[in-house]
Amino acid sequence: MYIKKIDTFPLLYRLPRRYGDANGMKSYRTCFLIRITTDSGIEGWGECVDWLPTLQKGFHERIIPFLLGKPIADRAKILQTIIQWNARSAAALSMALTEIMAKKSGISVCDMWGGRFRDKVPVYASFQSYSEDLNWQKNSLALIGQAIHAGFDKIKIKIGGKTIAEDQQHINSVQALLESKIDLALDANQSYDLAAALRWKSLLEAWPNLLWLEEPLKVDYIGEYARLRSRLNIPLAGGENIEKAAKFIPFLTGHALDFITPDPMHAAGLDGFREAGRLARCFGIRITPHTYDGALARLYALFAQACLEPWSKMEADGIEPVEWDVMDNPFTKLLPLSPAAGTIYLPSGNGIGVEPDADMLAYYQWDGSSY
Ligand code: MG
Repeated sequence: MYIKKIDTFPLLYRLPRRYGDANGMKSYRTCFLIRITTDSGIEGWGECVDWLPTLQKGFHERIIPFLLGKPIADRAKILQTIIQWNARSAAALSMALTEIMAKKSGISVCDMWGGRFRDKVPVYASFQSYSEDLNWQKNSLALIGQAIHAGFDKIKIKIGGKTIAEDQQHINSVQALLESKIDLALDANQSYDLAAALRWKSLLEAWPNLLWLEEPLKVDYIGEYARLRSRLNIPLAGGENIEKAAKFIPFLTGHALDFITPDPMHAAGLDGFREAGRLARCFGIRITPHTYDGALARLYALFAQACLEPWSKMEADGIEPVEWDVMDNPFTKLLPLSPAAGTIYLPSGNGIGVEPDADMLAYYQWDGSSY
């Protein structure tokens, strides 16, 4: 079975109202899908994230000419080359080649990975809390209200982009809305140093519903993470931009995190992403995948969680939640999956069991203009 054809689907959506986090305001959302077709007609989909012109040029001028005619069974060898060229692109290829092998075998991706421990995985509603309105806090609370109404029981809110006083005022209002009935994660996007993070200590320790504090410090400061972790009694999470499972080892041996947060599109291929999950289990650490961009990548993260042994015997499922983008982003709906009561029931057909929405692929196709 050989690679006969590769199509690319660069998609762009310009946001009518910008939103953001401590890293700045976003004015667009993008998506980049590929579809590999084999000589026997089997198709597999993949997704990666980067600037669209980089991906489009990279695929059409270098990666696709290299891949045409290559055997599907050479997945590892193919990925080794592509990771050297452009690690982000390798994520898409690893997904598409995985799906093709599963379909060829007449089984689901999960079955190919050894089978599921569970058929559903919890998701949390992930917000970009800042907007350009003077009354950004009111906007944020309205969006959170919608997510609660939609059935989410876990949410993640941004901090770190305003003064600590303003962010704390916002989170106090959020907590009043949640009434401790909804679990809350806070994400500072690496905004603080140890002293600034500790200014949250008394509030954090007064709240009973905190899931974790995400990336309070720069990700390189492993020792400072360990110090902060020893001084706070809430879990610390981080690592969404770490590309290789091995790079989590210093965090794990340094007792610096309670949750690692690898992203299937930031890791150089699905194998590295899944290795990070297994590594976390080896060290007794939890994993909550970062999947802010990408409906297909998110589905693979959900599959990986479904196939991971439970972290605990305390809960029925014992599996950590996956990020679900609830902001204005049409690409969240590219696949026919939507959470009910904060849970995704996984498709069970051959391969990934679902297909991207063809009308959306056509409607949002990037026209090559700058953005
Ligand atoms: Mg984050």
